[in-house]
Formats: sequence, structure tokens, C-alpha cells
Amino acid sequence: MATHPTYTLPELPYDYAALEPVISGEIIELHHDKHHAGYVKGANDTLEQLAQAREKDAWAAINGLEKNLAFHLSGHILHSIYWGNMSGDGGGEPLEKDGTGELADALAESFGSFARFKAQLSKAAATTQGSGWGVLAYEPVSGRLVVEQVYDHQGNVGQGAVPLLVFDAWEHAFYLQYRNQKVDFVEAMWRVVNWQDVAARYAAARERAAGLLLAP
Ligand code: MN
Repeated sequence: MATHPTYTLPELPYDYAALEPVISGEIIELHHDKHHAGYVKGANDTLEQLAQAREKDAWAAINGLEKNLAFHLSGHILHSIYWGNMSGDGGGEPLEKDGTGELADALAESFGSFARFKAQLSKAAATTQGSGWGVLAYEPVSGRLVVEQVYDHQGNVGQGAVPLLVFDAWEHAFYLQYRNQKVDFVEAMWRVVNWQDVAARYAAARERAAGLLLAP
């Protein structure tokens, strides 16, 4: 039995109210301290339950445990990226003069233009059915950027793609402030995107991409 947790809740990189008026401090506090913390606990608990199943060779719950692992671990990872993707000084678009020119070029190459990328990610996030995310990801086999529409935290994604910019479209991300106006929330999100953070994730994803297929 593990004596310390495998996963831990990261500190927010800003105060709860730092993203106002786009996202209220009340939402950020609940979202980080309750929802994200719940995914961290869920991932750790599921690892414990899987360890017990192995120990007892008791596999009656294997399907549920594997689903719970995917759900909670993906929730933890996506939220950890989400906090870093946002800044009270964010917004605009990646530009050469801001040190994010390679990301800007890749967006234009993969989507045709920044405007077309923005339209696709906005639409993917705003049209999630039930709970989900709109995600910009680096797809290492093609070397291109793609937009994914994620079901819950873990469904409808291509294996190996690395999330770079994630828009949480679960109701807990916006409902206290935007009510049922998910489209308005997604549009407002662009005002807090931290492009330096996204560009740093893009550079890191490319550096570790080569091992995925171990192709000759
Ligand atoms: Mn969330």
C-alpha cells in the first residue's frame, strides 16, 4: 500500500480573482480546490484499488477501475494544463515579437490562419455535448497541430497527441457566471489565453515527440 500519493494538486499560478472579469474568483476557487482536487484524489484512490486487485487477483471491477483511472488521471492532467494556459495579462494572439512566432507559424500552417484555428477551437469547445473540452494538441506522427473535442476528460482523443491549450467546457467551469451561455464563455476565454505558456508547451512537445512510434 502506497504511503504517499502519486499525484498532487498543483498550486494555482495566480490568485483566485486574477482572471476576473472573464472568470470569477468564486469559480476558480471551487474549480481548483474542489473539482481538480477531486480528480487528484480519484486518480490516487484508483491506483490503490488496482494495487489491491492485483494483490488479491480479484478482477471483478477491472472495467470500472480502468475507466476511473482514465477519467481521473485525464482530469488531473487537463486541469493542470488549464491553469497554466490562462493569465490575467493574456489574450490577443501569438506573435513573433512576443517570442511565440513558431507557434503562430504552426497554427497558420495547420489551420490556414489564426482566425480559422480560433473558429475551430471555439466551435469544438462550445458544441461539446454533455461534459467535455476543446483542445489544441500537437500530433507527433504528422508533426501538425490538431483540435480535439474531448468527451468527459478522456474520450475522443487520438493516442499520443499532446494537449497544448485546453478550454474547459464543463458546466462547472462557467455556469455560476455565464449560466447557460457557453458560447459567451468560450468567446471570453480568448481574453485570458497565456500564449507564452502555450508556446512553451509546443516546444516541449516537439522535443519529446520522436519516441512515439520508434519508426526507422
Ligand atoms: Mn473542470
